[in-house]
Amino acid sequence: MAERVVIEARWDPILGDWVLVSNVREFRPWRPRGCPFCPGSPETGWGWRVLVIENAFPMLVPNPPTGPRSDFPFISVPGRGRCFVVVETPRHDVDDLSDLSASDLADVLETLQILFEELSKDPAIVYALWFRNKGEEVGVSLTHPHSQVYALPFIPNKVLREMRNCYRFWARSGRCLLCEVRDRELEAGERVVCRTRFFAAFVPFWAKWPFEIHVHPLRHLESLRYASREELEDLARCLRAVLQGLRRVFGKPMPYVAVLHEPPLRGSYPWFHTHLEIYGMYRVSGRLKYAGGSETGGGVFTYDSTPEVAAKMLRSALEVPDHGSEDKR
Ligand SMILES: [Zn+2]
Ligand SMILES: [Zn+2]
Ligand SMILES: [Zn+2]
Repeated sequence: MAERVVIEARWDPILGDWVLVSNVREFRPWRPRGCPFCPGSPETGWGWRVLVIENAFPMLVPNPPTGPRSDFPFISVPGRGRCFVVVETPRHDVDDLSDLSASDLADVLETLQILFEELSKDPAIVYALWFRNKGEEVGVSLTHPHSQVYALPFIPNKVLREMRNCYRFWARSGRCLLCEVRDRELEAGERVVCRTRFFAAFVPFWAKWPFEIHVHPLRHLESLRYASREELEDLARCLRAVLQGLRRVFGKPMPYVAVLHEPPLRGSYPWFHTHLEIYGMYRVSGRLKYAGGSETGGGVFTYDSTPEVAAKMLRSALEVPDHGSEDKR
């Protein structure tokens, strides 16, 4: 056991990215006493439909005990931020988000809008990263439907790389690169998974994970925070269809990671728009894809089929989302 609580972000000057370090888990023993996310638990209480709670084992806290360090190459900053769990439904028995009605799923998205708005007022927080892990294969032990939000004091490296390239393209052409890619994918059509009124989902030309799906707004919607309720409900329909597709492809739940790539919480980014990325982890053969030597060691993903085939499999697996009959509340 470590001697003191460490909650900090360490800087890797060689790769140029941050690593979150927190040993709070060593100081707070886990006591499994039923599901902590079910209504009526000490963490959750009663009377909610979507609930945001603080993570019991945070990687970031509002007042971290550790100070900064700048003794090159040992650079770190206090792990100042927040870690939230979004409990997406009171129902424990729901397998995936696609089992929620579009209206209930839109409520989850609206909860994120409210949380992001709130976080944008905190000057210590630069970025809100929403993500969702699904399946034992990606380390999920609590099956009650939930996702997480890391409120970070920096922009995550992957988003920063996207923003840099989007900015370069915009400076050259005056176009949003993400809009360009979405339009070209819709034109090409062969990798499109589904299209709803305001959103489109496709397997990108350069997909890295076997069933990698990107969900984009059809307009240049900079942040999820600016989406109307109508758009949220439509996004919910698109997302349900995609996740249903993932489950139906092999007739069993597919492990996946989903992440929302938002712009930073403050500022204006005309060259970047919000989008979701979902990484379905079964190969076309139905076996699990691991990030092995090439991926983990070299950052080079290998794809042992084609994104076109994966998109075709998804298209035939998913139900065409209907435009609203079942979802009236
Ligand atoms: Zn539960
Ligand atoms: Zn755009
Ligand atoms: Zn992205």
